Amino acid sequence: MASPKLSVIIPVHNESANIAPLCERLLPVLSRITQDWEVVFVDDGSRDDTLDLIRDVSRTEPRIGAVSFSRNFGKEIAIAAGLDHARGDAVVIMDADLQHPPEMIEAFVERWREGFLMVYGQRTDRSDETRAKRGFAQAFYKLFARFGEIPLPEGAGDFRLIDRKGVDALRTLGEKARFSKGLYAWIGFKATGVPFVVEERRFGTTKWSFRKLFRFAFDGIAAFSTVPLRIWTYIGFLVSFLAIATALFFMVRTLLFGTDLPGFPSLIVSIMFFSGIQLMSLGIVGEYVGRIFAEVKRRPLYVVAERVGGAAEVSSDIV
Ligand code: UDP
Ligand code: MG
Repeated sequence: MASPKLSVIIPVHNESANIAPLCERLLPVLSRITQDWEVVFVDDGSRDDTLDLIRDVSRTEPRIGAVSFSRNFGKEIAIAAGLDHARGDAVVIMDADLQHPPEMIEAFVERWREGFLMVYGQRTDRSDETRAKRGFAQAFYKLFARFGEIPLPEGAGDFRLIDRKGVDALRTLGEKARFSKGLYAWIGFKATGVPFVVEERRFGTTKWSFRKLFRFAFDGIAAFSTVPLRIWTYIGFLVSFLAIATALFFMVRTLLFGTDLPGFPSLIVSIMFFSGIQLMSLGIVGEYVGRIFAEVKRRPLYVVAERVGGAAEVSSDIV
């Protein structure tokens, strides 16, 4: 029997400075594990010479290939494309900026050989991130743990190894607003974590703006929970109940002591209050309707502009 094949998926967006240092560290690790490996870069609409650099290394090392998007589709979609193009029996997903130490892949493969179908890197501290981002992440994961449909393992990110069975399962999930961490947990399978320390980003800057992060967080919550949709029913009930109680209070007071209030302030306040609630709940419904719209359109997840090396052989250009 042929030895199992190992694929590494690396989404890249303007990472030209990282390509060479990454390959330098990654390739020896892969060669120690097996000769039958491949690297699938997913060029997520880079505007610098990232793709040219990959093309160069691909010429000397044909096991390195790339799928290049026609524009920036986002990291989540890039991962989906990587999974479509990887042919390995085990597939590793990692960042290009060397924050995910390539040496960890050996530990991942070891656990995989022990029978775990999903091996995720578990970051032990988040001290590399800004305080605001850390706080935001913490709040998000607390919310998700409380309201999400599935538990997410703590500290687990995209850095992980997935068995072919898991990859095939992930590929059947066609949703557009992709929250990979949720999807990894959703497919199940025997999983385990390997702790690692996130390294400093080597070159360039983070590709996540606060706006992108917020979008990402909302996609995550909305894809795996209907609580934002339902919570307004409860709040609505509560508010109505309070309104009835207040009305009763005023009625009794007026009957006993007569009226000394023109009633104008309370009227305005209650009108404003209820319009606020209605607008908010409409907004929430709108978020979900927007998602339904996005799913119903059945647009392809991404459009491939070009292929480099081995990754060129697989599937059609619009997936
Ligand atoms: N990335 C991508 N598309 C994007 C943003 C990021 O493919 O729109 C890639 C990026 O090139 C990197 C990985 O996703 O390989 C992680 O991005 P980054 O390091 O900027 O995120 P952070 O580590 O700050 O969370
Ligand atoms: Mg990074």
